[in-house]
Amino acid sequence: RLDWNGKNVTVAGLGVSGIPAARALGALGARVTVVNDGDDERSRAQAAVLEAEGITVRLGDGDTLPTGTELIVTTPGWRPDKPLFAAAAEAGVEVWGDVELAWRLRGPGAAPWLAVTGTNGKTTTVRMLASILEAAGLRTAAVGNIGVSLLDAVLGEQEYDVLAVELSSYQLHWAPSVRVHSAAVLNLAPDHLDWHGSMEAYAADKGRIYEGNRVACVYNTADKATEDLVREADVEEGCRAIGFTLGTPGPSELGVVEGLLVDRAFAPNRQKNAQELAEVSDVQPPAPHNVANALAAAALARAFGVDARAVRDGLKAFRPDPHRIEPVEEVGGVTYVDDSKATNTHAAEASLAAYDPVVWIAGGLAKGATFDELVQKSAKRLRGAVLIGADRALIREALARHAPEVPVVDLDRTDTGAMSEAVREAARLARPGDTVLLAPACASMDMFTNYNTRGEAFADAVRALAATGDA
Ligand code: ADP
Repeated sequence: RLDWNGKNVTVAGLGVSGIPAARALGALGARVTVVNDGDDERSRAQAAVLEAEGITVRLGDGDTLPTGTELIVTTPGWRPDKPLFAAAAEAGVEVWGDVELAWRLRGPGAAPWLAVTGTNGKTTTVRMLASILEAAGLRTAAVGNIGVSLLDAVLGEQEYDVLAVELSSYQLHWAPSVRVHSAAVLNLAPDHLDWHGSMEAYAADKGRIYEGNRVACVYNTADKATEDLVREADVEEGCRAIGFTLGTPGPSELGVVEGLLVDRAFAPNRQKNAQELAEVSDVQPPAPHNVANALAAAALARAFGVDARAVRDGLKAFRPDPHRIEPVEEVGGVTYVDDSKATNTHAAEASLAAYDPVVWIAGGLAKGATFDELVQKSAKRLRGAVLIGADRALIREALARHAPEVPVVDLDRTDTGAMSEAVREAARLARPGDTVLLAPACASMDMFTNYNTRGEAFADAVRALAATGDA
């Protein structure tokens, strides 16, 4: 185990991962300096608290490597091309992210990790997995973006048998030595390319999750890029490649047969028989991409030795988080669904595929995305579209190219009140039996603080419509 006493550690970034990392390292006896780009009121207040605990904080300069630094622990969001990291490379200083730190601080006999990454569906899958593990009577937690932080799970009082861990591509980039029990890559679509530099670099960072897997590398048979990553990975001997599919499964796959989720990978007589795990209707909501998430979660649980019954009980007990394909209300025979979390085109495409006919509310910050493929794949199901936000012209143009017959309402406003108007317009386009779906395919920061407030604005507008007939 590492001796931290007196070690000079620089923590890059004050924030949700930097502050706990600085504290944990300080408690271990390290000499900690936090460097931060910002020097605003909030960071000054945070700095004051840390300095009272004996931690040095340098505000307004996140790029100068403090003299004597022996290790950098960085906020995963900091881009690898930041000058601080060039300085670190020059000085031969190692860089760890928050996940690497947690991995290195695990005690002996610590709980193994079952890990999930992918462009979309990580949080949902990790929570489904934790629900299944709990149903199997295991002490576990969903760890990552929501719920317990990895550092707390590793250092806290609570003891675990196994952890269900969500890992982002940023975190994987900075986690060179993490070796998990089993891992799943759900899907791979262009996202965050500005950060990683290229699709190849993004895929390579995601693929790191398979390195050194001991029992199973779980991949999506419908997404060849995930299978390629398994093939390229250097895994422990005996580790198996396990596919999940929405169709009939092959011998090393989990899949769907006649409305049932079935497992041929870990079934006792898998050459011949598939083992029944659950009904598709046990998955909430039973949209195709979400059934895929459930199969990935089931595959990881089965790799850990969980029985079929616990998979069913765990999936039944699972409830989705807010703003992820969340039904809000039915008004005049039209169902309103909030998928504000669909912040990229890949996610929006998945949720649009679950509804027909659908009135689509979309728009926001496009983050460099193009919308042609999304519109082409969804055009047949669209009753109409209502566009909001800064980059709505990109979506309008794609609709004009590939779905010229679909009525489009283009709301030329980016104030928060625009959502009420969007819901009113969508209600006008919809007919009884239709779904109105907020699946923006864009980030929210042009109009809202985050996807939560965007989803709440939508839900408020729908409830107003239900109460008065007017959003
Ligand atoms: P993440 O943690 O990866 O952001 P979430 O589970 O929070 O993923 O889901 C984010 C959004 O992605 C959902 O609102 C839904 O629109 C979409 N989504 C979820 N699972 C999938 C999937 N397997 N494939 C494509 N899109 C998905």
